[in-house]
Amino acid sequence: MCWIAPSLQYVSILQMNDSALTNKQLDTLHRLLGQCRDSLKTQLVQFESAAEPVTLDQQSVGRVSRVDAIQQQQMAIANKTQTAQQLHRTECALQRVEDGIYGDCLHCGEPIAFTRLEVQPEASLCLACQSVSE
Ligand SMILES: [Zn+2]
Repeated sequence: MCWIAPSLQYVSILQMNDSALTNKQLDTLHRLLGQCRDSLKTQLVQFESAAEPVTLDQQSVGRVSRVDAIQQQQMAIANKTQTAQQLHRTECALQRVEDGIYGDCLHCGEPIAFTRLEVQPEASLCLACQSVSE
């Protein structure tokens, strides 16, 4: 990056996207993403052990609790899938921070509002594109 004579394109980006993230906001979100990733990883390990196949001794456990155990296992599998997806999105967002493209909508390229990223730091789409895709 040449600070003495910035390219015209760079100047126009600065002028157009006045709601682009400041360095401080980016820093905050970067930290937030790191925390999210760590806690999601911990959760995933817990769900993984809970989602293991039900191996209950038929003699010691009645039919009802066996059904319970299977239901709990299925819930754990659903939670595990959800958590894994969330972790994947979070890791993708961290990658975008590394690549210097974090905070821009992957669909339209407009900056995503900081207020949205604060709540959902792994968001890859702006609100407008997100509502279209849902
Ligand atoms: Zn968009």
